[in-house]
Amino acid sequence: MYLKSIEISGFKSFGKKATLDFNVPISSIVGPNGSGKSNVAEAFSFVLGEQSIKSLRGKRAEDLIFNGGKDATRSNRASVKLTFNNIQRIFNIDFDEVAIERVVNRDSSSEYLINGSSVRLKDIIELLSSAHIGASGHQIISQGEADKILNSNIRERREIIEDALGLKIFQNKKDESIRKLEKTEENIKQVESLRREIAPHIKFLKKAVEKIEKTVEMKEDLTKMYHDYFRREEEYIKFEKESIASEKNPLIESSHKLEKELAEAKEVLAKSESKDSRSDEVVKVEGKLKEVRIFKDSLMRSVGRIEGEISSLARLIKKQNEANSAMSKKTVDLSQIENVAKQIDLEIDGASENDFSKVKEIFASIKKILRDFIERNKENEDKQAIDDLENEIKKLEIEKSGYEIKLKDANNLEVELSEQYSFLKNDIEKEKDSNRDAEKSLFRIVAEQNEIRGRLNGLESREFRLRHDEEELERELQEASILVGVSALHYKDFWPTNAEGVALSIDQVVKEPRQVQEDKKRAMEKIKIRLEDAGVAGGDEVVKEYKETTERDTFLEKELTDLINSSVSLKNLIKELEEKLATEFRTGVAKINSQFNQFFAAMFGGGSASLSVIAEKKKKKSDTDLPEGESDGEEMAEEEETEEGLEIEVNLPRKKTKGLMMLSGGERALTSIALLFAISQVNPPPFIILDETDAALDEANSKKYGDMISELSKYSQLILITHNRETMARAGVIYGVTMGSDGVSRLLSIQFEEAVQVAK
Ligand code: ATP
Repeated sequence: MYLKSIEISGFKSFGKKATLDFNVPISSIVGPNGSGKSNVAEAFSFVLGEQSIKSLRGKRAEDLIFNGGKDATRSNRASVKLTFNNIQRIFNIDFDEVAIERVVNRDSSSEYLINGSSVRLKDIIELLSSAHIGASGHQIISQGEADKILNSNIRERREIIEDALGLKIFQNKKDESIRKLEKTEENIKQVESLRREIAPHIKFLKKAVEKIEKTVEMKEDLTKMYHDYFRREEEYIKFEKESIASEKNPLIESSHKLEKELAEAKEVLAKSESKDSRSDEVVKVEGKLKEVRIFKDSLMRSVGRIEGEISSLARLIKKQNEANSAMSKKTVDLSQIENVAKQIDLEIDGASENDFSKVKEIFASIKKILRDFIERNKENEDKQAIDDLENEIKKLEIEKSGYEIKLKDANNLEVELSEQYSFLKNDIEKEKDSNRDAEKSLFRIVAEQNEIRGRLNGLESREFRLRHDEEELERELQEASILVGVSALHYKDFWPTNAEGVALSIDQVVKEPRQVQEDKKRAMEKIKIRLEDAGVAGGDEVVKEYKETTERDTFLEKELTDLINSSVSLKNLIKELEEKLATEFRTGVAKINSQFNQFFAAMFGGGSASLSVIAEKKKKKSDTDLPEGESDGEEMAEEEETEEGLEIEVNLPRKKTKGLMMLSGGERALTSIALLFAISQVNPPPFIILDETDAALDEANSKKYGDMISELSKYSQLILITHNRETMARAGVIYGVTMGSDGVSRLLSIQFEEAVQVAK
């Protein structure tokens, strides 16, 4: 026994939780019309994952939830739980008991659970499939669907059989693989189209990148040239500046010196202009000297005359004196001499010894006494003549000393003037000499100044050229940084070399002919023009974009390869699955056929029935069951396809009629049951639910049906919803379903007799 119980809560008329235990091979559910028996069968379909609300006799998911009755409030959710014994591991899951549950809420959300854990519908289908419980619901034959399998088209029949044979799992895999393949092929197309789309862009970018690479090369070349050029230029400018300065400074110094010398010479010459006034002074001094000399001569002459006069007068006096000397032998009285001596004694006695001035006075008095004595004793006759002569001499001597004083002054003046004259003369001579020197210097200075000016002019024009070179270097540096970036400015790290890579000496660098630099500059200009033509702007972005785009293309290429590989393996898988399905299906159908034939013959007491695989060409028209809660039945686009399906052929005993169309309602029901039983025998599901499949059977056929049920219950548990007494009699447990005035279905286990009553 695999099926243990069903628990229904809030589903359709089961407003209250109801549980049915299935401990026997055949359980029967009986009850009056409308009590909710079919709702039990639908509860099975629901929990097994039925997606069509329509086949559960509803329009929306809400219709599955108990809607309330007179005294019963409506439920917010419907849940059905099936519990299986899994000790024999009929389900591919490691639990001894398996509970499958489905819940639907009023907001249409639904949930599936396996042993209380939330799972996907897919998981439920897979689990059930492992136990031969298919989603097609072949093991649940609803009321009025007894001949469902006969009414189905060949494709539906095929599905039912596939499901019963447990091929659904392969079919699902195949469908899934086909879906995957379709998706993969769609992706392949998308990737191919993406690659096609980006291919011209890649081509364009590649060209652009090649161009950029060329410009990068050119930039590198230019950078090298810049380094050499800038370094040389800088060294040259430095050297030239120093060399100009070293030449210029001494020249400026000399120039300053010459300026000073010139000023001095000019000063000398300016002074010489005052020469005339000096000459005048000399003439003046000469004149004065002459005058003084004439004056001096006249003075000397006057002195000579006076001296002559004095000497003649002296001679006269001498003659007079000689005459007078005879009178000197005159005799004087002693008393006169004693009188003189007395006067002298008186003078001496009156004097003191220490007073020198007094002595002097005494001598003077003595002298006067003596003179007076002598005078009193002289003859008085010639004395007047001598006195006159002496007076005359005195006068002359006074006149002479006057001349002599003047002469002395004149001499002094003469000396002074002579000195002045010789000084002036000397000065003028000297001046003449220095003027000559100054003139000579002037010529020399001007000549030297001219030379210096010439040389300075030369240096200035060198300086001018150098300034221009400096400005040009500055401009070139700016241009270089814009054109090739800052790397161009790192020329200081570079030192020029010769062709062999040997570093040049500073002399070789700075003394290189300027023409060589000019030529280099021209060569650089050519590259610059080519760079500008190439349009350098945005290079990095283009390279980046090219890299990204090619990477993307490579990625897409790889993805395409992966997709093609997976498409190939999917195709292979589909092929394998198709082969497997075809083989399994055919062997399965063969097995079913033999059973079908037997059951058919048993039912009808002879005759034959078989399934045959046929292929039909028809327009594809598929109904899709939409998700719960939405109206279904929308039609798909039509397309022609070859459809492989199952045809049923029947041969009733003793009747010439052939084909399903000719069968009576009961015959259809019997045939359908025979087929269903055949299917169930080949691959027995754990349980089968038959909802009033026996309704159309007469008593004799009910008996045969009952026998077959007993036979079938050896393989699968049976749940029979029936009003048929014969059927009820086969059941081990009978559940009665009743519905009270509250519209809630209730279940109770009842006895056979009771069941017969209830069923009525
Ligand atoms: P019969 O013997 O005539 O086939 P039955 O016993 O199979 O009858 P069901 O068809 O199972 O009866 O039950 C139908 C009953 O279930 C109806 O009375 C219907 O009103 C009730 N029912 C269906 N859906 C709901 C729902 N969502 N809420 C409440 N009751 C519902």
